Amino acid sequence: MRILVSNDDGFDAPGIRALADAVMDLGDVWVVAPDSEQSAKSHSLTLAAPLRARRRGERRFAVDGTPADCIYLGAHGLLDGPPDLVLSGVNRGSNLGTDVHYSGTVAAAREAVMAGFPAVAISLHVLPEDEALHWDTACHVARHVARDVVSHGLPPHTLLNVNVPNIPRVALKGVRTATLGVRRYANRVLRREDPWGRHYYWIGGPHLSFADIADSDGPLVEQGYASVTPLHSDPTLSTFLEPLRDRLDT
Ligand code: MN
Repeated sequence: MRILVSNDDGFDAPGIRALADAVMDLGDVWVVAPDSEQSAKSHSLTLAAPLRARRRGERRFAVDGTPADCIYLGAHGLLDGPPDLVLSGVNRGSNLGTDVHYSGTVAAAREAVMAGFPAVAISLHVLPEDEALHWDTACHVARHVARDVVSHGLPPHTLLNVNVPNIPRVALKGVRTATLGVRRYANRVLRREDPWGRHYYWIGGPHLSFADIADSDGPLVEQGYASVTPLHSDPTLSTFLEPLRDRLDT
């Protein structure tokens, strides 16, 4: 079995090393990951510039592109055949609720399922005050989920988005399937001045809260459970198709 591992934190990030090591006994592990951090780059592809893949070991490549580039290039150009399973992570920081639209970690998994390969994204819910990083807890859950996907497969165009609290494995309350919730951040804009008196901006603010939605991913992770949310690459809102058809179709 061929397993392709990628991420958005970069080839040298501790989370991807832990994940690649954790699934070594499940098959031939290939790592194709960005050579620099690509967090929050979502699903962008590099189409107007060349990509270079630097060999970093046997079945190991660092690519000067995005997470989606890595899956595309890995699956269709670098591996010796199609991957049977694609794993993305372990991301430093959770990808909960609305985060999935920005996440490069989730986009790598989405790129995989769009090409027909089952995929799982795994992220560790690290809080700003956390000192220890419990990659082993995330890898334990990743193995649990990966083995299920290997045994049962996934529906077409479906990925699993997994988030794990950053706590010791013995403290983990369990694994819970969950819906995608809503995450709120402070929408902060910092305006500064460069040495020539021109303004520049930093965007991005701290996490505020998760919406209090029962069985949604954020609150479950905050309670000490690992969440598993099935996501489909087709975001059509089917419930709104019929009323919209009545109004717009001519
Ligand atoms: Mn990241």
